[in-house]
Amino acid sequence: MDIRFYNTLTHRKERFEPIDAPNVYMYNCGPTVYDYAHIGNFRSFVFADVLRRFLELADYKVTQVMNITDVGHMTDDQLADGGGEDKMAAAAARLKESKKQGVALIDNPDDPYAVAEFFTKAFIEDAGKLGMKIADEYPAQMPRATDHVEKSMIPMIQALVKNDHAYVADDSAVYFSVQSFPEYGKLSGNSLDQLKGGAGGRVQGQHQVHKRHPADFLLWKPDATHLMKWDSPWGQGYPGWHIECSAMARATLGRDVIDIHTGGEDNIFPHHECEIAQSCGATGQSHFARFWLHSRFLLVEGEKMSKSKGNFHTVRDVLEGKVTGRRVDPAVLRFELLKGHYRSNINFTAKGLTDSASAVRRLREASVPDAEPAPVDHPDMLAFLEQLADDLNIAGALAVVFERMKKVDDELPGILKRVDDVLGVMQARGADGHLSDVQMFCQQLDAARGDKDFEKADGIRQQLIDAGYDVKTTKDGTVASKRLA
Ligand SMILES: [Zn+2]
Repeated sequence: MDIRFYNTLTHRKERFEPIDAPNVYMYNCGPTVYDYAHIGNFRSFVFADVLRRFLELADYKVTQVMNITDVGHMTDDQLADGGGEDKMAAAAARLKESKKQGVALIDNPDDPYAVAEFFTKAFIEDAGKLGMKIADEYPAQMPRATDHVEKSMIPMIQALVKNDHAYVADDSAVYFSVQSFPEYGKLSGNSLDQLKGGAGGRVQGQHQVHKRHPADFLLWKPDATHLMKWDSPWGQGYPGWHIECSAMARATLGRDVIDIHTGGEDNIFPHHECEIAQSCGATGQSHFARFWLHSRFLLVEGEKMSKSKGNFHTVRDVLEGKVTGRRVDPAVLRFELLKGHYRSNINFTAKGLTDSASAVRRLREASVPDAEPAPVDHPDMLAFLEQLADDLNIAGALAVVFERMKKVDDELPGILKRVDDVLGVMQARGADGHLSDVQMFCQQLDAARGDKDFEKADGIRQQLIDAGYDVKTTKDGTVASKRLA
């Protein structure tokens, strides 16, 4: 199959061929765990999941790593020179303040490790509910930055100093020298002159006086007062955010050059630009990732999401019904986040969510839980995959599926079963996020009632009762619970 992806590095669609086929090594920039992840973050994470599932269906063996940033991500992350405050420390202060006011998410907000642990768990839970395979099946592939400071980040910084790509400045911090790496700026289209000029004040700051070039960025920040600190050749302190991803990608994927690196468009500069400089500077390779794929922002009702506008939604808010007034099935939110092309802005709206709910309902109604999946070379599957092979054209792929659903025959359930390897929405999940056929039966029952097909509804109800469940109708729909003996 001819797979093409738009590569941010070359600004064009390129034929995708992994270095070591059929293996694909992919790194996704994951969350900074200082708060619950919002739906905009999850747009980019779900995109990475769909990409993984598509490649697997196309017969590649995918090793996917998504990091968890639990130290060193500063509040002024556009500066790339360690300005501002560590987001984890800021979160600890925030939680401490809310504890004083009687709202305690965790017992010990003074401890940034506890804060990180709390939001890491919450993230993995949310990701599992949204059907992200890495959270569901491969949580070990989600490395924590704090576990890699000694074993991978400090050695990589040492290599950069040794290779003359980094230096210790007179404020004792270690910086990457952008002038030592002629390719710096290639990914984002920035030139060193532009960056020197200040790019709208971007490179100004207290660290500028100590640096050789205003765009030099931080690798190690000495700070013996920081709550999360490690011994290093440059004194006690902590790593910069960018070095974390370069080091974790190399350590966990075990390669100097990987096939795919993804992130949100806001990661392109400075984060990914810096990652390329560090990784290539440390390994001497001409590439770090062959393909750079970036998803665009999510808008809410046409506007950029922001806390001040009150349109800032976490996954939990949406699922618990705080956004629409109704509980939302995680599969519906997943569908809403994946149905738009990753290189377009998607607009999250209440209307869109209703459309997604109806799409998921139609897919589930036509599917049969224990159907035998259709072979990948079935003509309808090939049509579906061909769309995805064109830079993950999800709209085209969904059009193939919904067109095929007009023809109800014996083959349809098998095709849908196979299609769901990528979509991941047809099997319902329980409140704990785990897949549940019982939940699916309940939804089919509700759907049948909605269509006034009472015979079908009664049939499903009887099947549940026969299987030992008590069946109740609630305002959120049918609920089945195991009958106690
Ligand atoms: Zn990253």
